[in-house]
Amino acid sequence: MHREQIDNIVENRRGRFPFLECQERFLHQFNQVPHEITYDELMRQNFEGTAHPFHQFFQDAPETCSVDVLAYYLPFHGNANWGIHIVDAGVDTLAMRILHIAEILHIDLSRVDAEYLAKHKLLLHELGHHAVEIVHTALEIDPNRPIRDSYRATRLPGRLAQNQRFHENEEAVCNWNVKRHPNKSKFKIRALDYFNPIENFMTTQPPGYRRFHEITNRNFLENIIDTRLTGVLPQQNQIQLEREFVQHSRLSRVKPRSAIGWDNPIGFVVPIYLIRT
Ligand SMILES: [Zn+2]
Repeated sequence: MHREQIDNIVENRRGRFPFLECQERFLHQFNQVPHEITYDELMRQNFEGTAHPFHQFFQDAPETCSVDVLAYYLPFHGNANWGIHIVDAGVDTLAMRILHIAEILHIDLSRVDAEYLAKHKLLLHELGHHAVEIVHTALEIDPNRPIRDSYRATRLPGRLAQNQRFHENEEAVCNWNVKRHPNKSKFKIRALDYFNPIENFMTTQPPGYRRFHEITNRNFLENIIDTRLTGVLPQQNQIQLEREFVQHSRLSRVKPRSAIGWDNPIGFVVPIYLIRT
């Protein structure tokens, strides 16, 4: 998947996508103006204390609304300013939560390090949502057997039970995308592995989110596509789609270098927007 294909979809988009009902209620509580920010800038910022004025909204949010109110992904199928949106108070909330879990687990963790872990947890989860959109896009533009509206079909309101299932499956895959990476240093700080508090946090999330344990390299694809639309995909197509997901869900996709890689230049970086409440 390359820049021109994404731009083409942005230009021909048909209306915005509905937020989750929970996000809809939540996101009107504070300033929502996004500012584009680089990965490096995001890592340098400190959001300690930003959740305090919104205590009543954020306190139970991870359990009731889950992490998609702490940060969320706007798809290029419905938004010109598509990308990962990070809420400062959301990072603060998650950092405090991770500190609390670390204390229970007798893990020594500083506030600065907890915030670093929180930012990476949120980025990897939202990159999962981005990679899901990429997989659907690949299905839509396949010249041999295009699946029209593959992405839209899995998230339009209406057939509620089905859409809830699509939603929960995708969230499980996005949290699996967080879990997929721990050995590759995303949750290591000064050579120590801090994935335990993150994993612990993910198991307290709503249904779907906490099912990440059931997702594997073998079944993630069937959890994010609508097999009633696609039918049984030829194995070659499946392998190609799995590759797209893996390539576009990496943390490197928010760093400029991945856009210009010599072997496979993608031509774009997944934008990060910061929302200062
Ligand atoms: Zn999510």
